[in-house]
Amino acid sequence: MEVLEKLKILSDAAKYDVSCSSSGSNRKNKNGGLGEAHNSGICHSWSDDGRCISLLKILMTNYCMYDCVYCINRSSNDLPRAAFTPDEIVDLTINFYKRNYIEGLFLSSAVFKSPDYTMEMIFEVVRKLREEEKFNGYIHTKAIPGADKRIVEKVGKYVDRMSVNIELPTEEGLKLLAPSKNKESILKPMGLIKAGITQSTEEMKKFRYSPKFVPAGQTTQLIVGATADSDLKVLRLSEGLYNSYGLKRVYYSAFIPVSTNPKLPVIKSPPLIRENRLYQADWLLRFYGFESRELLDENKPDFDLTLDPKCDWALRNINLFPVEINKADYNMLLRVPGIGVKSAMKIIQARRFSSIDFYDLKKLGIVLKRAQYFITCKGKHYGVKSMDDEIIRNHLVEKPSTLGNYQQLSLFDQVSIEDKCIEIGGQF
Ligand code: SF4
Repeated sequence: MEVLEKLKILSDAAKYDVSCSSSGSNRKNKNGGLGEAHNSGICHSWSDDGRCISLLKILMTNYCMYDCVYCINRSSNDLPRAAFTPDEIVDLTINFYKRNYIEGLFLSSAVFKSPDYTMEMIFEVVRKLREEEKFNGYIHTKAIPGADKRIVEKVGKYVDRMSVNIELPTEEGLKLLAPSKNKESILKPMGLIKAGITQSTEEMKKFRYSPKFVPAGQTTQLIVGATADSDLKVLRLSEGLYNSYGLKRVYYSAFIPVSTNPKLPVIKSPPLIRENRLYQADWLLRFYGFESRELLDENKPDFDLTLDPKCDWALRNINLFPVEINKADYNMLLRVPGIGVKSAMKIIQARRFSSIDFYDLKKLGIVLKRAQYFITCKGKHYGVKSMDDEIIRNHLVEKPSTLGNYQQLSLFDQVSIEDKCIEIGGQF
């Protein structure tokens, strides 16, 4: 099979993996090397006019020995199959890089023959790129669950980022839809990567030229809506992963019904608004100081689809509001809907010089259409007369027309996944 034909099959097959992201890596070029990774600017797809937006995202192969019910590449699915050799991927990466099409490689794979065999193939690609081609661009690879510790460690020494996809939030979900996987086989490589990162960070403090291990950290992907698991379960799992494994990002991917099976839910379209709410909540965990138990609990295990999680939290805690913009501390400002991390910081800085009035707030980047209900400015409240949560809720709920605008992006759309995440997680 021609390499271009393989590329078509295996880049298309990779589009369901959202666990790649901007690099966060600043690998510098070495003498005589080629390329370098930057802290920002790595995007993940090809635009529909053929313009490359930076990351070659492909599968090593879509031949899979497993039969996960939700997956297009499952062994029982009848579809065109292909497999790259390591040399082919190396050639493609170098050729695309030299043509300025890409800044790096995201290499994932189905499980071909065995986890070890697949991981060895991935290792061969990254070794050749780094050692033989002196490629210093960004590389993100998948760690295959069940692969031997030593191979995962070998790969980790060459790449910027690794991801182990959890896919389903609970052991029961895995048993039902991906019986060949279990939580332990997924968490083990995550633990290994974390240990490697910790060790390399320590060594770098002592030895200036100590080799880096997965310097841009690890990520994972969770599929939302393939099982009956609640948002609470998903969010608690993410929180645990951030706390225990130091993950850089958890990506949420609305379940796309690529096959029919009695074990799968019957849905017409992917639950994209739910995916959006989880990204927003994830932002609250990572940057706003929230804990999952504040956002959801057993009595309310799922997010309100008509309201972003921060507004929802504020309305359920309406007794804490309104807060005076000239007095509230940074942590409380962060909890006001419409005030983001940057604008909270700007408020703290600006009020050192003079007190802020309502009309200054827009200049500081505050989204007043949300914030006005929850703040006072020099003692004056600009929201509705009563602090009644139901009345305020009616002003804040998103209209069905807005909610209907969410669309699943294709690999060839121009907006990168990272842009999408920023757009939905940004300032709220
Ligand atoms: S192991 Fe991965 S590629 Fe294979 S069927 Fe399961 S999810 Fe798909």
